[in-house]
Amino acid sequence: MKRAYKYRFYPTEQQERELVRTFGCVRFVYNKALEARTTAWYTEQRRINYNETSAMLTGWKKTDDLKFLGEVSSVPLQQTLRHLQGAFASFFDKRARYPRFKSRKKSRSSAEYTRSAFTFRDGQLTLAKMADPLNIVWSRPLPEGAQPSTVTVSCDSAGRWFVSLLTETVVAHHPPTESVVGVDAGITSLLALSTGEKITNPGHQRRVQARLVKAQRALARKTKGSVNREKARRKVARIHARITDRRRDHLHKLSTRLVRENQTIVIEDLHVAGMLGNRSLARAISDASWSQLRSMLEYKAAWYGREVIAVDRWFPSSKICSACGSVNDTMPLHVREWVCRCGVTHDRDINAARNILAAGLAVSACGGGVRPTRQSSARRSPMKQETRPVKVGIPHL
Ligand SMILES: [Zn+2]
Repeated sequence: MKRAYKYRFYPTEQQERELVRTFGCVRFVYNKALEARTTAWYTEQRRINYNETSAMLTGWKKTDDLKFLGEVSSVPLQQTLRHLQGAFASFFDKRARYPRFKSRKKSRSSAEYTRSAFTFRDGQLTLAKMADPLNIVWSRPLPEGAQPSTVTVSCDSAGRWFVSLLTETVVAHHPPTESVVGVDAGITSLLALSTGEKITNPGHQRRVQARLVKAQRALARKTKGSVNREKARRKVARIHARITDRRRDHLHKLSTRLVRENQTIVIEDLHVAGMLGNRSLARAISDASWSQLRSMLEYKAAWYGREVIAVDRWFPSSKICSACGSVNDTMPLHVREWVCRCGVTHDRDINAARNILAAGLAVSACGGGVRPTRQSSARRSPMKQETRPVKVGIPHL
């Protein structure tokens, strides 16, 4: 299976110049090809494919205006045309929106090199058009004997350089276990587990947030186009980067642990983006965190021979008593804890996690296997139905 290993590196001046130029050409070629495809469609109702854009690229390099495209490695330019092809394929399959232009400010700068455009020998990675290998910080070892098939170089808005190496690796499955767990995207915590455990967001988040607000205010005061403004922008970007890094790190640890400890992980197929749009649902978990965690759980489960089941988000997980099965008609969001008529006191989120687990196991026992239904669910109203009058259960405020 293919796995990407990402490292930071520190380019020399010559390397930085070469890479910045390559990023520029990549963006240029992508946008120009996108424009050509769009024009062909609107004026002649004709679809242009990858091969045609590739031929166009060859033509552009021969013109006086665009001959600078021939000065950087041709591979990242070809790769970006492949990505554009992929973006159109997703669009035609109705999986994505129409491809958009890449902007220097808003899009991530990156360049992808395939095997013909780099050498990897004795742990040294050298890219095409470069004399020296990259100065990579090997923060974790690449698997023994790994030969990367694709190398992606990128630079984030905080000015940090990264290289990602895609390699074919063999991952040994975890030994099977009997443990199963239900996970609920909690209201008061990041996650609630059916085991009764609640997982919170990393504690330092609030402090960093305060620093971010301060840095953003400072940025707003700076004159447009000034050197100080650029410095302030970098600072904001650095804090942002630190927040995303920490969040990702936290989610990695969490997903690794859940996958290691459990054979089956049942999650709710929430459409969080829509839920965040509703202000009454002040969830501790952000849209980005939840979908990131979900994808981590899914790919790690595949690596280690585990199973992730997503239950339909219309399943009323927070309204059912996990002990006796009676259903409340409503469960307002401010209710954190409630007592069922069977006498059991429930923590709202833990109870939901238990119900999610039970629903997932029931489905997997039927052999159906609930498939995530992202597309169809996106079109329905994103709210969980939690606002109808009470018939059973005494909410405990
Ligand atoms: Zn009950």
